Amino acid sequence: MAANVKVLKRRELTWWENTFLPSIYAGLVITSRHFFGNLAIHISHVFGLRKKERGSTTYQYPEEKRPLAHRYRTRHRLMKRDSGETRCVACMLCETICPAHCIAIVAKEHPDPDIEKMPASFDIDLGKCVYCGFCVEVCPEDAIRMDTGRLDIAAYSRGGMILNFDHLMNPELPVLDPAKPVAR
Ligand code: SF4
Ligand code: SF4
Repeated sequence: MAANVKVLKRRELTWWENTFLPSIYAGLVITSRHFFGNLAIHISHVFGLRKKERGSTTYQYPEEKRPLAHRYRTRHRLMKRDSGETRCVACMLCETICPAHCIAIVAKEHPDPDIEKMPASFDIDLGKCVYCGFCVEVCPEDAIRMDTGRLDIAAYSRGGMILNFDHLMNPELPVLDPAKPVAR
C-alpha cells in the first residue's frame, strides 16, 4: 500500500511570488470584475435594459431579511391538535435519532386513554443542533417541524440556546432572552 503513495513536493515560491503582489493583483482583478459587472447590470436596469439578468443586491439585515426557500430548515416547533394540545406522543424517536444528542424529552401519561403518552418536558439545545432535520423525518405523528422561518438565534449563555416546551409550542415567543437564560 505504502509503495503506491505518491509524495508531492511543494513548489518553492519565487522571490516575486513571495511578495504576494501577484496574488493581491489577481484578487483585485476578480473583485473589480464582479463590482463593475454588477454595477453595469444595475445601471442597465435603470434604462430598461438587460432585464433578464439579475444583479447582486445587499440585504440590510436585520431590518430586511432575505427570503428563504420553503424547504429551508429553521427553528423547530411542535404541531398542535385541533384541541390546541401537542401532537407529540413522547415516543422518543426524535431523541433517539438525533445525531447531536440535543433533544431531551420527559414523558408523562396522557389524560386521554386513547393516547398513551405526552411530553412532560421537551427541550432542544440549539447550541448543539446541526439542523439535519432527522427529528422531523422520523416523527410518526408529524408533531415536529422546522418551518418557523426563524434564524435569529443568539444568546450570551449556553442555557439561553435551549428551547423548552413553551417555546416549541409558541414559535412566536422570543426564545433567547440573554438576560434570562432558560434554565434546564
Ligand atoms: S435537526 Fe438534527 S440535530 Fe437538530 S434536533 Fe433535529 S435531529 Fe437533532
Ligand atoms: S418523534 Fe414526534 S411524536 Fe415522537 S417524541 Fe419526537 S416529536 Fe414527539
